[in-house]
Amino acid sequence: MEPKKRPLVEDGKLILKGIGVWQRIMPTYVPYLIFSSVVNCLTPYFPLYMSAEIVNELAGACDLDRLLILAAVTVAGTFTLSMLSRFLSGKLEAIRSLSYTRHEAYLFDAENTFQYGHLENPEVALARTKITSVMNATGAGLGQVLSIPEEVLTKILSVIVSAALTVSLFRAVPGTDSGFFAFVNSPWVILVLVAAIGANAWFSVKLSTRATGEISDALKDLAGMNNLMGVYMRANGTDMHIFGLNRLFLADYAKYLLRPKWVEKYEKAVTRKSYGITLLNLMMKIVVFLFTAAKAWLGIIGVGNFILYQGAVQKFVEALSGLAANIGELRYNNQYLEETFRYLEMPNDMYQGTLAVEKRDDIDYEIEFRDVSFQYPRSDEWVLRHVNMKFQIGDKLAIVGENGSGKTTFIKLLCRLYDPTEGKILLNGIDITRYRYDEYMALFSVAFQDYTLFAFSVAENVAASDKIDESRVQDCLNRVGLGEKISGLPKGIHTNIGRDYENDGVDFSGGEQQKIALARALYKDAPFMILDEPTAALDPIAEAEIYARFNDIASDKTSVFISHRLSSCKFCDEIAVFHKGQLVQLGSHDELVADENGKYYELWNAQAQYYTEKAPA
Ligand code: ADP
Repeated sequence: MEPKKRPLVEDGKLILKGIGVWQRIMPTYVPYLIFSSVVNCLTPYFPLYMSAEIVNELAGACDLDRLLILAAVTVAGTFTLSMLSRFLSGKLEAIRSLSYTRHEAYLFDAENTFQYGHLENPEVALARTKITSVMNATGAGLGQVLSIPEEVLTKILSVIVSAALTVSLFRAVPGTDSGFFAFVNSPWVILVLVAAIGANAWFSVKLSTRATGEISDALKDLAGMNNLMGVYMRANGTDMHIFGLNRLFLADYAKYLLRPKWVEKYEKAVTRKSYGITLLNLMMKIVVFLFTAAKAWLGIIGVGNFILYQGAVQKFVEALSGLAANIGELRYNNQYLEETFRYLEMPNDMYQGTLAVEKRDDIDYEIEFRDVSFQYPRSDEWVLRHVNMKFQIGDKLAIVGENGSGKTTFIKLLCRLYDPTEGKILLNGIDITRYRYDEYMALFSVAFQDYTLFAFSVAENVAASDKIDESRVQDCLNRVGLGEKISGLPKGIHTNIGRDYENDGVDFSGGEQQKIALARALYKDAPFMILDEPTAALDPIAEAEIYARFNDIASDKTSVFISHRLSSCKFCDEIAVFHKGQLVQLGSHDELVADENGKYYELWNAQAQYYTEKAPA
């Protein structure tokens, strides 16, 4: 794949932006990078310079005292520089070893501010998987911005130092302007030499850019392997065991392993690059050697300086071609970096209001849906159509309807996970989009049907934070009927959910986990309490127990309760019946069940077959 051509300045800005990200995540990165580059650059030049001085002294005055001082300085300086270099590379290595986890954490943090719709968008999910898998496979994207700049800076400094040390080599010496002297001193020879150095750098770039592309292409299969490994890691252990799914995994894995093409491609690309660059540099070194040797042979430069120039020009050539190659790599990497930033900076197209939500002790909030219709992004289907409804504050509202009738979508709009396609939702008479998003969100506590619990302690899950009010956690667990069970465990509310991280963690049943999710919704203590099928995973006894406790659970809050089991909604003040995206009925259980032509009556009777004792009179 050819990298996208971007002007050098734009590429540079993108790279600096990437470095800026790391600097924000790990503030010691740039200082260590600069310090380490300076030390790395000086480490080979210092002994080279000192050796030249010593040889010059030996070939010249041969003053023993001076020689001893020079030798001492050489040893001490070289030792100090190599110790410093070790120390700094250790520091940078430690920073880099954290890069994968820090990278993940950085993405997670950024995703917190994404509009919810992005998280349900498969294209966004794909972009995310790609960013993580190329980072993990090759470090492409932000990873390479962490590793390559140190080399770049070292080489820039090396080019400068080499150039400074060798300027005098090209100076014409008076009285050496005839015959072979003139040839060696000719500006043309110097020009050819400089041109050859430039050509060497240019070829190096070409070779490296091509190899980087080939290496990335070859490693794409490796990213596929990582994805496969991810699928395997997420799989349920019991299923793996019972169905022997690991055989399926290994068979798939073997397809990657047995497909040696990528290994071959990788090997070829890497070898071609290193042989190519070594050969180019060798040719350059021969040319430089001949030029310097000619000057030494003619006596234009001394033996010590011959060593110095020889070494410095060779380092110059190496640094320049290496620098060109690194810049090629960084520019190639920019396509991944650009993808990462495009992902991180996805525009949030939800209207961002600025009004503060009035804080009311009497929780006297009123919500109104005014002619609300909704289509999900990338779909033309109307999931909700012309919904009009007002909530009575402090009431318990049930939303019922068949699967797919739009109940959860109604809640998603209420909580501003999406904005209506048409119509408005009002809070105390004001369009909810005009409120500050975070303040509006703080009004709702939701236990969604597909809740997530983490393999942390029960307390952390309930508090959804590492700052835990233990008595409040216990109180919420009591209210959902899980208090006794959890206090009976040796570690109480600090028991870990599952055994991913702790051997003495507990594998709670589905019903218990749902209760923990309910307790989490209670802990947030928001004015609106929304429960989406809160008893779906509970057995009938546990379900009955939750309903008996419902007044405890919802207390004085406005609660919205979604269920497809009508028997569980009888205790609600009002029941909204959804059918094919429309609100078709609104009223109390007694009113609705009396309307024999209504949807509620039909649903009630259909379910009554399974709950005969709850059938209408
Ligand atoms: P209910 O909660 O009543 O079962 P939902 O509100 O979940 O219904 O779904 C209503 C309709 O919206 C269904 O046809 C469903 O397929 C569709 N739907 C739900 N979520 C999405 C989504 N993220 N993108 C597109 N369509 C969706």
